[in-house]
Amino acid sequence: KAVSAAASQVPRYVRVNTLKTCVDDVIDFFKRQGYAYLGKAASMEELKALSGKKFLLDLHLPELLVFPSQTDLHDNLLYTSGHIILQDKASCLPAFLLGPVAGSHVIDACAAPGNKTSHLAAILKNKGQIFAFDVDPKRVATMNTLLTRAGVTGCQLAQQDFLTVDPRDPKYSRVTHILLDPSCSGSGMVTRGPGEEAASSAERLQALAGFQRRVLHHALSFPALQRLVYSTCSLHQEENEDVVQAVLQKWGSAFRLVTAFPSWPCRGLAAFSGAESCLRASPAETLTHGFFVAVLERCKEGAAAPS
Ligand code: SAM
Repeated sequence: KAVSAAASQVPRYVRVNTLKTCVDDVIDFFKRQGYAYLGKAASMEELKALSGKKFLLDLHLPELLVFPSQTDLHDNLLYTSGHIILQDKASCLPAFLLGPVAGSHVIDACAAPGNKTSHLAAILKNKGQIFAFDVDPKRVATMNTLLTRAGVTGCQLAQQDFLTVDPRDPKYSRVTHILLDPSCSGSGMVTRGPGEEAASSAERLQALAGFQRRVLHHALSFPALQRLVYSTCSLHQEENEDVVQAVLQKWGSAFRLVTAFPSWPCRGLAAFSGAESCLRASPAETLTHGFFVAVLERCKEGAAAPS
C-alpha cells in the first residue's frame, strides 16, 4: 500500500499547548535536552531531511514543532504534563481552520479522544464555551483525563449521540462554530501495522457516508452557525467530497465552501465544481497522515432548513 510505504516519511509533530506554555519555552526545554533547533522550516524538503536530535518550527502551522519520524516523546515530561500534544500535522488543521475568536461558543460534535477539542480550547484561550459530544463512553472517559491534563476549562463534555442534540435548545443559541470530525474508514491513517488495514467494503463505505451526511446535515441546522469544518482521516471520495457535495446541495444557497488554506499544496479531488476549495493531506504530498478538510460558511442570514 502506498500509504504504508510513505509512513516512515511522516515526521513526529509536536503541538505546543499554549494553555500551559509557549513555543519559546518548549524550544528552550528541548535544547536543554540536547536537541538542536534549526529555526522555522522554509520548505517541505527541510522537514523531510530532518534526522538525529534536530527539530524545526513548522512552515504552515504556528505552535507546531517538527522532529524526525523515529522520535519518541511519550515519556517526555512535557508530554506527560500536558505542555505538548503529540498530534499529526493534518489533525491540527481542523481547529486551526475553524479559527473561532476567544469568547465564541463552539461545538465539537464527535470529539473523543479530544486532541482537536484541546486545540480549540487553546485557540479560544479558554475563553468562551465548547460543547463537546461523543457517543462512546470509554472514549469520553479518556477524553476527560486528557482535557484535564491539557488545562482545558470551559468545555462541557457529554456522552451523547450528536444526532440527538437539539439545535433549537437555547443552550446552543450562540453556537457560531462547529468542528465535525466524524467516524470514518480511517483509510488515511499510516500507523497501522501490517494486516491492520481495515478493508473498506462498498457497503461499509456506504454506511459511513450515510452517517457522515446525516451528521453534517444536522450540524448545519444550528441556527446561529456561521462556520463549520468537516474533516476525516479517510482517503475515500465517498466520505469526503461526495458527502460535502450532497449536503451542500440539500441546503441550496444557505452555505458555501470557502477555500481552506489557499497556500496548502494538496486540494480536494475534482468531484464537483468548487471541490478544490477543500484540502487533502497525504504522506507523499504533505508529510502527514491522509486527511480531508472542508470549510463551510453560511451565506445567508436566517436561511431555513431544507425540507
Ligand atoms: N475529533 C477527535 C479527536 O481529534 O480526538 C476524533 C474523533 S473520531 C474520528 C470520531 C468519533 O466520533 C469517535 O470517538 C466516535 O465515538 C464518535 N462518534 C461516532 N458516532 C457519533 C455520534 N452519533 N455522536 C457523537 N459522536 C459520535
